[in-house]
Amino acid sequence: MVDVAVNGYGTIGKRVADAVALQDGMDLVGVAKTKPNFEARNAVERGYPLYAAVKERADEFADAGIDTAGTVGEMLERAEVVIDACPSGVGAQNASMYDDHDVKAVFQGGEDDAVAERSFNASANYGDCVGADSVRVVSCNTTGLLRVLHPLERDHGIGKVRATLVRRGGDPSQHGRGPINDILPNPITIPSHHGPDVRTVMDVDITTTGFKVPATLMHVHSLNVETEASRAEVIETLEDESRVRFVEPDDRVSSTAEIKEMMLDEGRPRGDAWENMVWRDSVSVEDGELYLFQAIHQESDVVPENVDAVRAIAGTADRDESVRATNETLGI
Ligand code: NAD
Repeated sequence: MVDVAVNGYGTIGKRVADAVALQDGMDLVGVAKTKPNFEARNAVERGYPLYAAVKERADEFADAGIDTAGTVGEMLERAEVVIDACPSGVGAQNASMYDDHDVKAVFQGGEDDAVAERSFNASANYGDCVGADSVRVVSCNTTGLLRVLHPLERDHGIGKVRATLVRRGGDPSQHGRGPINDILPNPITIPSHHGPDVRTVMDVDITTTGFKVPATLMHVHSLNVETEASRAEVIETLEDESRVRFVEPDDRVSSTAEIKEMMLDEGRPRGDAWENMVWRDSVSVEDGELYLFQAIHQESDVVPENVDAVRAIAGTADRDESVRATNETLGI
């Protein structure tokens, strides 16, 4: 049994905590939050021991009538692995605290890759991360790219990759983010950081560019990959990937809003789409170049990766066992 703590209980942290709580070989020993809001109350209602992330603010929880089990240091004393799901940059500040408590750490993609021993993606480099003291689960977009590129490289070999990322302006609850009436080349300079981020996990020739748009639900990638594979071979390879799901012509789904609606109708928690959603009709090969469109649910595609990252660094399962267990418990 691996004792797992989640530090930072927001968009990613609350989803990861729910996923960890479902795993047979893991015990969720606690979640830590800075402020006593509805999410803190909800964590307690779910039976998760709640810890105050900032010692000086611990009284705020008592004042709000929310019971805590202690402060973050006490949570770390009970954990073997901590999943840091704090805002970008805060994870790096927490790293020395995790060292002091001698816990292994899983960081998120908002951190620099230097924060951890290795960047992690279950499909691409699980084996390289087994037994590491710390890993960084790469960002939602990088995870989405690796889930397609790694199997294509493994089965067929690939050449130059070009990807245009149409990125949501903010998550649905982030009322302060934008744009609300604009389209931003973002960043204006080429490449965006996503291509170099892919290369922290996999050796591939890739250039990425990005836009930010007034949307909150998902990102969309337009992907172009040099390959000798035929359309049928590409589809066969991706059909074997459990975390790549085809949006079928019969679904009659032509937008990210409809994908989210489909997930809600299927009873997915919070309408989460853990898999890359690839429009089958978009998969085309012309003159040795593959084209496809995929939608990436930024709030949830990294959730199964975090669960696998725990097993990798704890050394409790090999890649196939871990992916199978994570998929089965979540319902992928
Ligand atoms: P979030 O703001 O929704 O959640 C972060 C939580 O951490 C908040 O509840 C905040 O109050 C809390 N927090 C702040 N300082 C803390 C501290 N010192 N100790 C403990 N908790 C603290 O952020 P998020 O979207 O969940 O992002 C978390 C990480 O995951 C970031 O690195 C981000 O880049 C990455 N990520 C985010 C997304 C996404 O689209 N939301 C996708 C993939 C990866």
